[in-house]
Amino acid sequence: MKRILALLLLSTAAAYAQAPAAKTSLEIKYVRDSAEYAALSREVYRIATDAALAKGKAAKGAWGVILDVDETVLDNSTYQLERVTYTVPFEDVSWLAWINRAEAGSVPGVADFLTAIRAAGGKVAFITNRDEKAREGTQRNLERNGLWSSNDVLCLLADNYPKSARRKEVADGSGKCSWSGVKVGVVAFVGDQMGDFPQTGEPFDGAGADAQFGRSFFLLPNPMYGGWVTSVTRK
Ligand SMILES: [Mg+2]
Repeated sequence: MKRILALLLLSTAAAYAQAPAAKTSLEIKYVRDSAEYAALSREVYRIATDAALAKGKAAKGAWGVILDVDETVLDNSTYQLERVTYTVPFEDVSWLAWINRAEAGSVPGVADFLTAIRAAGGKVAFITNRDEKAREGTQRNLERNGLWSSNDVLCLLADNYPKSARRKEVADGSGKCSWSGVKVGVVAFVGDQMGDFPQTGEPFDGAGADAQFGRSFFLLPNPMYGGWVTSVTRK
């Protein structure tokens, strides 16, 4: 009997030894649970609101703002948490299923920002690398969160259609990502990745310049994913 008990204990210990070490995933907890993340996001949006409204008032013609979607407008930390719980990586099928659930929350501060921009007569363009297949689910999620207005433009990724090309269309008033025929002075860009902002050579004031952050470029924190995970992006 003693021998059986000892064997049982040994096999249980072995099973625990083989179990993967618990992953802490503090980057997801920071986004979901910390007062600091929420205050930081609201702070960025508050600064963006003041800057955009001042520039919008001074604008001669139509004006507006360009926002990324993921981790800028919609909070996908629940999806991230699910992947970590199951110890499975990001992949496209589950990502599209998540989009179609339309359960993403709002990034703190974005609702007030959009309300202020629209009330002042500004236009809102969402430029995202979500796939064209995700259009209905994305718009439904934005609507569910009270973040969508019928005059907005939602520009998704199609046929290697880079964000730089879509930004230019907004400004030029031509192409799918525009208010056809209406040139729009873009007074603010909001995103969580460097690719969400005009790069050197693009036709926007201060394109590629660090000095634009806090003035017309507004960067939100994203500790969960990004180009920095697999390379050094800091110069
Ligand atoms: Mg994003």
